[in-house]
Amino acid sequence: MKKVPQQARELDPDERTGGFSEVVATYTEEQAFLEASRCLQCKDPACISGCPVGIDIKKFIAQIVNKDYRGAYLTIREKNNFPSICGRVCPAEYQCRKTCVLTKKGEPFASALAINIHLLERFAGDYGMQECSQAQAVVSPAKKKIKVAVVGSGPAGLCCAGELAREGIKVTIFEGLHKPGGVLRYGIPPFRLPSETLDYEINSLRRMGVEIMSNSIIGRVRSIPELFKDGFAAVFLGLGAGTPSFLGIEGENLCNVYSANEFLTRVNLMSAHKFPQSHTPVNIGTEVIVVGGGNTAIDAARVALRLQKIEGITPNTTILYRRTEVEMPARRLEIKHAKEEGVKIRTLVKPTGFFGDQSGFIRKARCLECKLGEPDSSGRRRPVEIPGSDFELGVDQAIIAIGLKANEILTKVTPGIKMDKYGDVIVDPKTMQTSLDMVFAGGDIVGGEGTVIEAMGMAKRAAKAMIDSLLKK
Ligand SMILES: Cc1cc2nc3c(=O)[nH]c(=O)nc-3n(C[C@H](O)[C@H](O)[C@H](O)COP(=O)(O)OP(=O)(O)OC[C@H]3O[C@@H](n4cnc5c(N)ncnc54)[C@H](O)[C@@H]3O)c2cc1C
Repeated sequence: MKKVPQQARELDPDERTGGFSEVVATYTEEQAFLEASRCLQCKDPACISGCPVGIDIKKFIAQIVNKDYRGAYLTIREKNNFPSICGRVCPAEYQCRKTCVLTKKGEPFASALAINIHLLERFAGDYGMQECSQAQAVVSPAKKKIKVAVVGSGPAGLCCAGELAREGIKVTIFEGLHKPGGVLRYGIPPFRLPSETLDYEINSLRRMGVEIMSNSIIGRVRSIPELFKDGFAAVFLGLGAGTPSFLGIEGENLCNVYSANEFLTRVNLMSAHKFPQSHTPVNIGTEVIVVGGGNTAIDAARVALRLQKIEGITPNTTILYRRTEVEMPARRLEIKHAKEEGVKIRTLVKPTGFFGDQSGFIRKARCLECKLGEPDSSGRRRPVEIPGSDFELGVDQAIIAIGLKANEILTKVTPGIKMDKYGDVIVDPKTMQTSLDMVFAGGDIVGGEGTVIEAMGMAKRAAKAMIDSLLKK
């Protein structure tokens, strides 16, 4: 019998957009078995080279075929602390699935036939969450009372903390916001990553003895030299890239023009959609545009459309992107989901100005049409404006999602720390050590916006270097 790719069950689009329930379901045992059985168990598995942390994909898939789910979970955890999270958010179509032998060479994304490695990882991760909490809490005996400070509780900080705690090192995470998780909490909406999954992984770190101090902005409440004075032997900076970029056009300061970061933070972290039961409000328009083409733009548009429905407004949310859909950096699955849910995507268009009413609220966007030119430094074809193609759109909310850059609260007050022209911290790529002794960094603060698994890969390298250095002293 021909083995066909197993599709995960998904909520019906109409049901999804009425709230924030998770859209994609975890494989059933039968689906996991059928999907895992499609794996060719290649002699030299190329999929592993596509995984930024080098999970032994071939081995864990074989373990699923043999119904050794605990084994599969532990195999993944050797390299990845958070399989349930990565199984949900990793852009597998650009990573392990793209290098799967079932994707033809030269295809821009993974083939539909490529093994659904991320869904199998999620299956094993969710099994582990329910069945193996003891296995992941195993820590070595405390090592010489060594303490390390981790700044930031996004995937980089959490991963680094887990690696250190497993070696018996006492870790304190300092997080500026009131809840830990970084973008996993305030950026990625719960319909893609439920907060229970994130809470579970964070609590597993607490069970390993990791302390989390929320509402603690390092650079304001304490400096890096003060952390050393307090007895921390090393510091890891997982500060992320939390400062939104703007278009720099007329009218960007009008009311109801949000950065995607603020919009998503209000809803995901502060539950603004439950105002006044929550303390934070958010405005929602009847004609919403979202500018950008990455995961942030898609998430913001899907959240805006849900809020319109919850408010009883006929959904009308449009993404404006200056290239074509092929060049959109967002995950293919999220683009598909957004379209199914009713988000409109208008490509080869860029706004050039916003115009408001007398009260200062946005009412109109002026835009220009674009065509594709030669590839730029990113390898994607450059958008070229078409002169005279101006047109106007009626708009009462705009959400800007064109990128994020480093937040410099800490780095600006830290003498001697070297940064590049973007404000990202410069590190030795092997050890992730910064220009300061025993200060390491990883995640989006190094090299700009990346992915969850890339942030974790850097954090693991830093943790290894810290462990080598601290435990041999
Ligand atoms: C909306 C959105 C959707 C995304 N979707 C995906 C996806 O589907 N898949 C994927 O792989 N990637 C996705 N990404 C990218 C991914 O989330 C990031 O690459 C990843 O979170 C980076 O991890 P990090 O730990 O470096 O930083 P962050 O997750 O940004 O965490 C940094 C943390 O540090 C804290 N902090 C900063 N400065 C200080 C300070 N001075 N003191 C104390 N705390 C501080 C911040 O409050 C924050 O909590 C998405 C990003 C966004 C914005």
